[in-house]
Amino acid sequence: MSWVAGKLAIIGWPVSHSRSPLIHNYWLAAQGLPPLYEAYPIDPKDDFRAALRGMADAGFVGANVTVPHKEAAFAAMDALSPAAQILGAVNTISFENGRLQGDNTDGDGFLAGLDAASQRGAPDGNWQNAPALVLGAGGAARAIIAALGRAGIDDIRLVNRTRDKAEALSGLAPHIAIGDWQDRAALADGCGLLVNTTSLGMTGQPPLEMPLDGLKSGALVSDIVYTPLHTPLLRAAQASGYIAVDGLGMLLHQAALSFEIWTGMRPHIDDKLRALLVTDLAEKD
Ligand code: NAP
Repeated sequence: MSWVAGKLAIIGWPVSHSRSPLIHNYWLAAQGLPPLYEAYPIDPKDDFRAALRGMADAGFVGANVTVPHKEAAFAAMDALSPAAQILGAVNTISFENGRLQGDNTDGDGFLAGLDAASQRGAPDGNWQNAPALVLGAGGAARAIIAALGRAGIDDIRLVNRTRDKAEALSGLAPHIAIGDWQDRAALADGCGLLVNTTSLGMTGQPPLEMPLDGLKSGALVSDIVYTPLHTPLLRAAQASGYIAVDGLGMLLHQAALSFEIWTGMRPHIDDKLRALLVTDLAEKD
């Protein structure tokens, strides 16, 4: 192994709920390494660049970044990957001899999760040859929309409760049509992919009302909410014969891509890790 092992972290505020330490320490253990990955809270009131310098001095070699620091991380980097540049947000930092390299694995992680699910459920993978409907225009939606554009979807339909926020994302992919939130059922017509990126359906939030009957046969229904894991949307999708893709796919695959950036090794997403996460989610939420 050529990687020089060093400390890793997830930066956020709050961050104690994060499952990233569980995931990355599982992969480190598989390499015979100690649990080098920790939750690292940074108060938004503090100087973010100074906090990163402190981490470099303390021997950190890599960090994930979550809410609310992805844009601050973007602004603090010395160099950025194309994905981070497009999104204006960084979720993966590499500390390279005093230099900060920023990347964003959220979009490719989402696509990898979809690919894995579609290979399990729909071997013809035909979601890529049909329109896609995305619900929501928050931070996660940005990465997902740009990734769907990279995947070649030439009819991306985007609706958000606050239409202006959806309009602001229309440059992220070549073929985006913005619709009204109340028209979402009609816009699902003929879609091979539906993605919920809103927080609706999450524990403590209102339910998502979304009829599914217009979707193409064999369509993928993805809900990136993972608390609960089996959201009402995914249950309805399964009951109607669609392929349900839960939020763990994106969570695990974006993590795997970050791990590979730091270590050069693509970790294995196995059933045991997934089961550990399912148990952890059930215990804490
Ligand atoms: P965010 O930036 O706060 O965006 C929230 C989105 O939900 C916005 O589009 C917002 O619409 C919409 N929304 C909230 N309440 C609504 C309501 N009552 N009716 C209609 N729309 C509503 O959040 P985010 O960071 O993108 O995260 C969104 C969800 O994805 C969260 O549940 C998060 O846990 C999950 N997530 C999962 C992963 C994963 O790896 N699986 C990764 C990231 C996020 P407005 O613009 O109108 O407010």
